Amino acid sequence: MKSIELYMQLTAKIEAFEAKLLAACAPHIKCARGCSACCILESVFPVEAWNIYSTITSGPGSFSVRAPGREQGRCVFLSGGECSIYACRPVICRTHGYPIMAEGRVDFCPENFKGVSSIDSGFILDLDALNRALVSINRIFLDENRDEFFTSERIILADLKARIPEVP
Ligand code: SF4
Ligand code: SF4
Repeated sequence: MKSIELYMQLTAKIEAFEAKLLAACAPHIKCARGCSACCILESVFPVEAWNIYSTITSGPGSFSVRAPGREQGRCVFLSGGECSIYACRPVICRTHGYPIMAEGRVDFCPENFKGVSSIDSGFILDLDALNRALVSINRIFLDENRDEFFTSERIILADLKARIPEVP
């Protein structure tokens, strides 16, 4: 199976987790499109950069990634307080803020689960396992990939955005 198919499977699993979490805990979750306080991402793995690039450049869909006015220290894809690449946003943007287990510690955004004293373990995402899966998918991508731009260890989002052709 190609790396991009594996990557889509991974994001589908995150979406399934998200659907389960929201079905049970929606009143306690503030994360949503338009909440952008955490949008400070600067770089991603090549496979994720490729997914963003190919989704935007091969359509269908409308992405106004050329919107000007990047705020200092904020993600280049943030536009008017919203993610301009929401449909193909990276893994970290899909999981950030939700309850995650990483290096033996549970964490989540303080905007979520306010006043809640415990979270069912079924709603805690194993971030270490997710990251391991992403790293191995990225490795497969690097073996398949022939485009020099997508071979760095990390791809700077500002460079990626600059590479996306103007959409009429
Ligand atoms: S890619 Fe989108 S969701 Fe992720 S940090 Fe940038 S603007 Fe926010
Ligand atoms: S992690 Fe926090 S700041 Fe980010 S979208 Fe979720 S609630 Fe908003």
